[in-house]
Amino acid sequence: MTLVTLHRLAPADPNATTCRLCDTPISGTTQDDLLVGQPGVAEVRAVICTRCGDALVRLVEVCGNQLSVLIKGDVLVSGTTSKKSASS
Ligand SMILES: [Zn+2]
Repeated sequence: MTLVTLHRLAPADPNATTCRLCDTPISGTTQDDLLVGQPGVAEVRAVICTRCGDALVRLVEVCGNQLSVLIKGDVLVSGTTSKKSASS
């Protein structure tokens, strides 16, 4: 199982310009980081905006912190489709 850590209000990474989850431009001096791995060796996998950070906090409040996530249904995500069109 993948362990994900949400690091709220981390110092801003100048290379991160948009939220990985919702594509909102990230500005300011802080951001939220999604880290993957065990505590101590976890690495930043994605930079997200504080609104998405809020949504994750609420998801954990609803479900508890031992959740696994399955995605059902065939929903096109703009980030994954643009990658496909960029390579062709
Ligand atoms: Zn976002």
